[in-house]
Amino acid sequence: MLAHTAGQQGRVAAHTICGEDMKYDESKDSGVIFTRPEAAFVGLSLDQAKAKGIDAVEVKAPMSIDAKAMITNETHGMIKIVADKNTHRIVGVHYLADHADTLIGEGVMMVAGEMTLEQVAQAIHPHPTQTELFGELARRLLSRLRRSAKKKTKVA
Ligand SMILES: Cc1cc2nc3c(=O)[nH]c(=O)nc-3n(C[C@H](O)[C@H](O)[C@H](O)COP(=O)(O)OP(=O)(O)OC[C@H]3O[C@@H](n4cnc5c(N)ncnc54)[C@H](O)[C@@H]3O)c2cc1C
Repeated sequence: MLAHTAGQQGRVAAHTICGEDMKYDESKDSGVIFTRPEAAFVGLSLDQAKAKGIDAVEVKAPMSIDAKAMITNETHGMIKIVADKNTHRIVGVHYLADHADTLIGEGVMMVAGEMTLEQVAQAIHPHPTQTELFGELARRLLSRLRRSAKKKTKVA
């Protein structure tokens, strides 16, 4: 159904024919739906991650809190990150946002590069850009995870 998926599968076929080890990893594939605002995904949803046995959590932020989105009046939608609660590895990024076709690039690198919430939280995103939301999301989820870990320690 997707041209970039077909391209990757073609490269995997060619590498395999040459005796090289390369696999198509559906859990890191991506897609964009060119609506207004655009919808896009890379990697796994919360349910898909849980079905794979990952103890996954998600964090969402509306585009309306983003400075650049306010400036350009493109505040509809949101961005969501899905991460492994234990390793903090980002396994999915999901968008309903203007420019999702461009913003998806950073999500693709997070998922393909198996980046952690800490790495994204510490990355310095320029202001004002919609990419600032990635750092904000990672920091929010990390602080939520820290709070729930503290609560568990108190109960124990
Ligand atoms: C109108 C349209 C719009 C699209 N828009 C998008 C988009 O915006 N984004 C996106 O990601 N994807 C899009 N797609 C989907 C994308 O084009 C396909 O997913 C992709 O081309 C599939 O690649 P493929 O190599 O698997 O198959 P194909 O590109 O269909 O290639 C198969 C090839 O095999 C040949 N063939 C078939 N049978 C034989 C045979 N017996 N012997 C020899 N050769 C044979 C065919 O002639 C063809 O050249 C769109 C598709 C369509 C039709």
